[in-house]
This record gives sequence, structure tokens and C-alpha cells, in this order.
Amino acid sequence: MTQILVGPRSQDIFKRSAERIPGGVNSPVRAWARLGGIPAVIRSGDGAWLTDVDGMRYLDFVLSWGPLLHGHAHPEVVQAIQIAAADGTSFGAPIQAELELAEVLCQALPSMDMVRLVNSGTEATMSALRLARAATGRDLIIKCDGGYHGHSDQLLVAAGSGVATFGHSDSAGVSDAFAQQTLVVPYNDAQAMTDVFAAHGDNIAALIIEPVAGNMGMVPPAPGFLEHLRTVTEQHGALLIFDEVMTGFRVAWGGYQNICGVTPDLTCLGKVIGGGMPLAAYGGRADIMKQLAPQGPCYQAGTLSGNPIAVAAGLANLRLTGGQACYDDLEIRLRRMVDGIACEAKKAGLPFQSTVIGSMWGYFISETPVTDFPSAAAADMERWRIFCSEMIRGGVYLACSPFEAAFFSTAHTDEDIDFAINAAATACAAATA
Ligand SMILES: *Cc1c(COP(=O)(O)O)cnc(C)c1O
Repeated sequence: MTQILVGPRSQDIFKRSAERIPGGVNSPVRAWARLGGIPAVIRSGDGAWLTDVDGMRYLDFVLSWGPLLHGHAHPEVVQAIQIAAADGTSFGAPIQAELELAEVLCQALPSMDMVRLVNSGTEATMSALRLARAATGRDLIIKCDGGYHGHSDQLLVAAGSGVATFGHSDSAGVSDAFAQQTLVVPYNDAQAMTDVFAAHGDNIAALIIEPVAGNMGMVPPAPGFLEHLRTVTEQHGALLIFDEVMTGFRVAWGGYQNICGVTPDLTCLGKVIGGGMPLAAYGGRADIMKQLAPQGPCYQAGTLSGNPIAVAAGLANLRLTGGQACYDDLEIRLRRMVDGIACEAKKAGLPFQSTVIGSMWGYFISETPVTDFPSAAAADMERWRIFCSEMIRGGVYLACSPFEAAFFSTAHTDEDIDFAINAAATACAAATA
């Protein structure tokens, strides 16, 4: 049985929203479909805390699904936005701050010689794939089962397990002609990658992957897996694209590529680099990026790309971060919290698998380690639902799906960490009752 977790004002606004906005939300995962179907309607955020329209307060580990590395309404980010807005909200012309952000990104990511700014992660991955096709003259792409790369037609494909299969779309409205350009291979399966390249290598433009999966829950790469992808793509003349929209400036300064030492040809960024404003980017090897119009034949454009307010927010967010030391500190504090939650789970007899890298974390209620999409899907969904519902009831805002990663910010205090561990004690007990 699912119960409504939110107060009367949230319920009222959400019910009225559902008459005007499909499903009441502007992005499906917000609907709390697995948790009673009525989400908290948020009024404001301050640091690590959210307040909803009923005045209920939540310690936030969703952080707008990743962007808010420094919590809500950080004064320096807000000020940067205000200053930029007062100078004009959009020009459709070059501004100096675009250069500054491009330089920060290229310095932080050694694989990135050049970069183009766009408005969303979806746009970044979609454009990177077009560029990969332009640069290689090939059509096929490879993605992993359970990998999410935004909602463009060619990427809304996840079906297929065991052996690589030609994809069928997960969504109505995507023609098979698009879906069939996408080959789906299990995550963390090096042999399956070798096999798919052996079969189709001459036609593969690119392999796109989240170097740490974050959209099937958080699943780190197996040792050697990403190195293998680098080798096999190079052997077959295909590009390796790291989709670091979630992991970029979240698991480390730069991205996971700086931790694993594998150099992709192209990288997609989003979320943290915009500090909560619509901003994303794709970039990489200069010889590939120079294929983009107006320099080259591959077209990609955007009225609001490099928007002054978004760029100002992104720059302020990255300047606050400063470099790798910020992530080292976040990881130490986050580990204390996640270990504390795991300890409560153990006491209660709840099987709990957790992962922490930098300021990104994830958990599964599962007896066995999760290494790919099938093992993520085999986790205990009913006990997850009870655990997550009780956490929300206890004032801890976790993602409303078992297939989402969680995040941490510099705004979370040691007191907040203890608050979350205490709530987990209750939630773990409820989930094993
Ligand atoms: C969030 C996400 C995207 C899509 O970004 P949007 O800004 O929502 O379009 C793409 N790839 C990954 C890995 C993501 O986590």
C-alpha cells in the first residue's frame, strides 16, 4: 500500500496542476509515482534544506537531480545571477564570460581542447552524437543497457540483455528507424563490447557511456571496463564519448575521467556546470570539434546557448568549488554519513549496498552487489519503497525512485549528517518490520 506523504496544499496544487500540465509535472520523475503519486510542491530552498508549500522542511539529497554542488540559493551564485541579469538577459552575441567558462572547463578536463555550450544535457549528448557521425562518416552508436543520456530519439533505447541487440525504443513516438541506429550492450560487460565491435565495428560512429552509471541507481564501472572501451573503440576507429552530465564536477574536479585516467574523444557536461541554471556543454578533441559549423559542416545552434545568466551562475558555482580539494573534503564527510546509514541498516537487518564517489552516492536495498541494469532491477523494490517513504516522512528528501543516484553538497553540515543517520535508523526499522 502506498500512502500520500505530503500536506494539503501540495495535494491541492498538484491536483490542479495535473489538469493543465501532463501528469502535473514538467519532467516525469518528479511525480513520485512509486511513493503515493503526489509530490511535495516546493516553495523555496536554502542551503541543504527545502521547504514545501505546507511549510514542511526536508534535508535535500536530490539537489535538483545533481546541479546544486553548493546547495540552494548560495549567496555568491544568487549575486552572480542578479548582476548578470541587470546587464541584460540575452544577446545572441558573444560575451566574455563564455570564454571564461570555456577556459575553466578545458583546463579542468585535459581531454577537452574545445567546447560548445548548450542548454541541456539532452542537447549536449544529441549534438555530440551528430558530431561523431559527421567526424566518422558512420551511422551506428552504442549505448549501455540502463544508461540514460537524455531524451533524444536515438537514445531512448535501453532494451536488450545478455547479447547486444538492435534497440527498440522505450517510448511511444520514436520511429524504429532511429532506434535501430542504436546498439545496446550490458553495462560492465567487456566481452559483449568486444563482440558488438567484432560484428559491427566498421559502422560504429561512437560509443556513449556514463563512466559511472547514475541513472540505474549509482553503479561504478568494473575495474578495467573503461580502459577496455578505450582500446576497442580505438581499434575500430569509433569515438568514445563520456556522458559526464551527472558525474562532471560532481565526483571530482573535471570529471570521472580525471579519476580513472581514461581519455575520451568527446565529453558531455551539464548539471553542476550550470549551478542550477539551464546550461550544458560538449567538447573534446580539437580536430573533431572543428567539424562544427561555422568552422565545419556539422550544424548545431541555439538562440539561448551561452546565455549570460546561466554562464554567470555556472562560473560562480565552479569558482566556489575551486578544485579537487573540495571533492576530497565532500567525500570524507559524505562517507561518514553513508557509512552511518549502512550501519543502521545492518543493525536493523536490512541488506544495504552503497557507493560513494566525491559528492555522488547511491544505495540499493539488495542482498547482492549491483553491477548492471538487471541486478539493479532485481533489488528489493518493496522494502526500498518503505525505506524511502519513511526517510521523506522523517524529513530527508531522497530521490523518489530506486533507479536514481543521490548527491551531497558543501551546504550539508555535520548536524545534517547526524539528522540523516537518525532518520535512517527509523526508516531501516520500518523497512524490516
Ligand atoms: C541528466 C542527464 C542527462 C540529461 O540532461 P538534461 O539536462 O536533463 O537534458 C544526460 N545524461 C546524463 C548522464 C544525465 O544524468
